[in-house]
Amino acid sequence: MRRLASIQTVTLTEPIPNADAIERVKILGWWVVCKKGEYRLGDRVVYCEIDSLLPERPEFEFLRASSFKAAVMDGDVTIQRAGFRIKTVKLREQVSQGICFPLSMLSPGAPIEIGSDVTSDLDIIKYEPPIPVGMGGRIKGTFPAFLSKTDEIRIQVLEPILERYRGQTFQMTEKLDGSSMTAFLRDGEFGICSRNQWLDEADETNVMVRVAKTLDLPGKLARIQNRFGFQPAIQGEVIGPGIQKNKYGLDRVDLRVFNIFDIGQYRLIDRSVYLQALVAVELMGVPELGPIVLDHTIDQLVELSIGVSTLQSKTQREGIVFRPDVEQFDQDVGGRLSFKVINPQFLLKYDE
Ligand code: ATP
Ligand code: MN
Repeated sequence: MRRLASIQTVTLTEPIPNADAIERVKILGWWVVCKKGEYRLGDRVVYCEIDSLLPERPEFEFLRASSFKAAVMDGDVTIQRAGFRIKTVKLREQVSQGICFPLSMLSPGAPIEIGSDVTSDLDIIKYEPPIPVGMGGRIKGTFPAFLSKTDEIRIQVLEPILERYRGQTFQMTEKLDGSSMTAFLRDGEFGICSRNQWLDEADETNVMVRVAKTLDLPGKLARIQNRFGFQPAIQGEVIGPGIQKNKYGLDRVDLRVFNIFDIGQYRLIDRSVYLQALVAVELMGVPELGPIVLDHTIDQLVELSIGVSTLQSKTQREGIVFRPDVEQFDQDVGGRLSFKVINPQFLLKYDE
């Protein structure tokens, strides 16, 4: 789970050109625009990341005009309560991500050590955009325990990684903004999952079920199993009409793979075999952006993430995903070494 709100310190403060009343402060790998003098170097603050949905509390009312989101209801059932959504903004040409509050915002007895998670103390939840059409359909259950979920951690919360892997080569791929899909073949049983759910593979009202059929994923998974000798799952991003506003302007739905998983060993397979398998069964991977030797600050990586999509030159890409050639465990990630750098121009453009 993401720590949306945590105790952090201000590690830098800098003026913003042509702005007298505001300045930028650095928290973790993020830049946040604040009132000048409100926080000083070394101050301990409550920091809330983008995607936080703050509750309706008097202290947050100043956000109403800019950030209020009404509750999302399904009949009488609340899908998502109302609140104030924190997103990427630009002030005086300066990108600002997240928001700071003084520690007095916390309830008495809340933890105040650096890094403490205060998300639930402040009753903050993650803002989730509405579920797009075609993503519904019958479900079989929760995401199966014999697979690993797809996820990518943001570099801004992982600064130690840059030191630890300095000089190591990573492969970059374009992060596509679609919907995460997993298809697997296990003991002869074919299954399809969305990010968090196991779908009914017979219900073609779901776009993922239709993609699996069009691409003959059961057949392709069987071929991977025969050829490479393990029970496979493939994980990729479904993109196209009806999904995330079809940012790449495709005329039909497509799948771009980013993981192949060995179910028997419960592990992701290394890049070389992953690439061979994609070629063998004629599946497309996510766009490859080439290798890079890691020797960057967070700001430099964020700069690097800015650019247009390989799939559509008029569209800003969502970001870049970095991975080593050989799967590696990282203690700070708490799982496989892999991270994302989200393009701030994309976030501004699509209001995230
Ligand atoms: P957060 O929890 O940080 O808000 P999120 O839940 O919205 O993030 P994403 O920002 O979508 O997750 O990032 C992770 C997802 O990115 C993965 O689950 C995967 O579906 C998707 N993805 C798209 N392109 C790639 C790629 N090139 N490599 C890896 N994952 C990718
Ligand atoms: Mn996402």
